[in-house]
Amino acid sequence: MEERVTTRAEFQEEVRRLAAELGEVVWEQVVEQGQTAAADGWLRQRGAAMLRGMLGAAWTARSERLGVSGSCECGGPLRFRQHQRWAIHTVLPGREVAVEVQYGQCEQCHRGRVPVLAEMRVDEKGFTEGLQELALLAGVMEPYAEARDELLGRFAGVSVSVEKMERLVAQEGQRAERMLGEPPAEEAKVKGTVATEPWGSTGA
Ligand SMILES: [Zn+2]
Repeated sequence: MEERVTTRAEFQEEVRRLAAELGEVVWEQVVEQGQTAAADGWLRQRGAAMLRGMLGAAWTARSERLGVSGSCECGGPLRFRQHQRWAIHTVLPGREVAVEVQYGQCEQCHRGRVPVLAEMRVDEKGFTEGLQELALLAGVMEPYAEARDELLGRFAGVSVSVEKMERLVAQEGQRAERMLGEPPAEEAKVKGTVATEPWGSTGA
């Protein structure tokens, strides 16, 4: 991405450029040079690179649209400070999506804020929810080293460290414990949902 994408037209142009570039490679490799046997393997990588480029442009444009506004928890006004480049860790093979975000700061307490990252709900390391879930699942299915190398590395094409998986599994364990320790509010909620069936019976 040479320039920051902000409009729909710019984004469409970027998508066409990325797709055309990839199309050239596929034609050249498969049709002209007969690289047919491993085509699916490398196209997964190249295709994912294209999708990562597309997503990076879209997230960047979203950040431009959101801007930095409103106020901080302390009540002070948030002001745009600068553009920052972030690497977001995603489930797309190759994992990294480069995104240019608007970074803001509170005028009173000087706390930093990146609205688009908050909206994306990435964690403090820039992992998307999708990748957190995938890494957590891999971490509970297999021993960590196998989960990293086979499930995540080979099957999904993403790299996640053993330490990160351990942390995700530990967080999930804590979350489960908190839920078990809570009063049976969930059960009550489920019953409440059942009770509001179309016929409006609230008895049962
Ligand atoms: Zn503040």
